[in-house]
Amino acid sequence: MDLEQHRRPRRTKIIFTIGPSTDSEEILERLMSEYYVDICRINMAHADHEYVRTVVRRIRKIGDRTRRHIAIMMDVKGPEIRTGDVEKPIQLEPGEIFDFTIKPQSNGESGEEIRSVDVNYANLVNDVEVGSVVLVDNGLIRLEVLDKDHAHIRCKVIIPGELASRRHINLPGVKINLPSLTEKDKRDAKVGIEEGIDIFALSFVRESEDLRILRQYLDENGAQDARITAKIEDQQAISNLYEIIQQCDGLMVARGDLGIECPFEQLPIIQRKAVKACLTLGKPVIIATHMLESMIHNPIPTRAEVSDVANAVLEEADCVMLSGETTIGSHPVKCVEALNKIARNIDLHGQKADFAKNMALTTDKAKIQHSAVVMANELDAIAIICFTRSGAMARGVSALRPHSSPIFAFSNAPETVKQLRIHYGVTPFQMIFCTEPEATVGRAMDHLMQRGYLKLGDKVVVVSDILASDRVIDSVQLRTVD
Ligand code: PGA
Ligand code: MN
Repeated sequence: MDLEQHRRPRRTKIIFTIGPSTDSEEILERLMSEYYVDICRINMAHADHEYVRTVVRRIRKIGDRTRRHIAIMMDVKGPEIRTGDVEKPIQLEPGEIFDFTIKPQSNGESGEEIRSVDVNYANLVNDVEVGSVVLVDNGLIRLEVLDKDHAHIRCKVIIPGELASRRHINLPGVKINLPSLTEKDKRDAKVGIEEGIDIFALSFVRESEDLRILRQYLDENGAQDARITAKIEDQQAISNLYEIIQQCDGLMVARGDLGIECPFEQLPIIQRKAVKACLTLGKPVIIATHMLESMIHNPIPTRAEVSDVANAVLEEADCVMLSGETTIGSHPVKCVEALNKIARNIDLHGQKADFAKNMALTTDKAKIQHSAVVMANELDAIAIICFTRSGAMARGVSALRPHSSPIFAFSNAPETVKQLRIHYGVTPFQMIFCTEPEATVGRAMDHLMQRGYLKLGDKVVVVSDILASDRVIDSVQLRTVD
């Protein structure tokens, strides 16, 4: 990478989901220190506790060694319905009669000739009606409910397909009575808390109350500092979009499930609306699923995928996310490289949407941050340097989407450094703050010079609320590197 490129780090952040394709020490190290991934997602639909502990420790060890720690996101599944294990995949035939069986009532047994699979949710029989549509495995398989009793849901296969173990079930428009945080989620989160997970993502958030329940659980179990991402995946979440955004620390547009629960032609409108709402309210937003789906098998993206990623970058979403591409895909590193290339090229040549201009500056802090961003934009400053303990100052600056200046955030708290990785345009570093404010600024500048981000004579904007030795004073300064 040439010097000028290095001085302007990619602004759109990359989340990759870890799995067999990426969980080796070697691949992780490449992704973390050569391709600068920002967040590792662990999908609890597939990971067991042993796996969580192993990969979290591995990532932390690599972070220590390479001196670049990334955030780890635990994705808890919420009210998600899945099929059970099957010995070998079942090839469903068109028109076949097929049962979903409820344990323990049925012991997984169905009628004589009728093939069946378990579901992990006993009350499913009460939620579905005769005539309901049941979609399995990302909507690939479609069945219609013919009949039900306490232990079976008898269906007819409308669109056939191959049913493997633990496939996701969608019931479009049906309100599932599962709690928003299940017992499994609590057990998973507990392990996450023990391992110091930075961000918990809650699947199928339907209303803001769901987030309060997770917040309370995290607070009661010693994870007050962990942040929460709300995954919007169905129609109810769209109806409650604004209250969900207000309550969360970040939003994920989970297009995989959204595209099944809602007519797919509505997806672009929903994505645009969600991104705009997050940027207006100053919350980070993640665009997830199928970004580079064809790269699970192919070494290059389709042209349509390139445009989809570019669209997310132009919308100024904080993060783009990889799922199957990096869990089971054949080209995980190439996928990250592709996101990198696309995002960087848009950073240089794209005309971004600028939804952040609609943000209301309601507090004095927001106004200070706005002044810093206006100053940086006017000067085309090579850096906005931000000192922040909790991360709030850097989050606020990022939310205002400086036109081209990178945000270098310094915090004395390692958790803050990792959590800031989700935010657009922020490159976070850990640093011990000095008692003398001037020494703190000097140390940060030295650090950035040594790492090749600053040169003598550069103009930088410094924004801080901790620079006074005896009291808190918000300040914005223009400095020249000397
Ligand atoms: P998942 O969520 O990968 O956990 O299903 C993302 C999505 O639905 O898009
Ligand atoms: Mn999902």
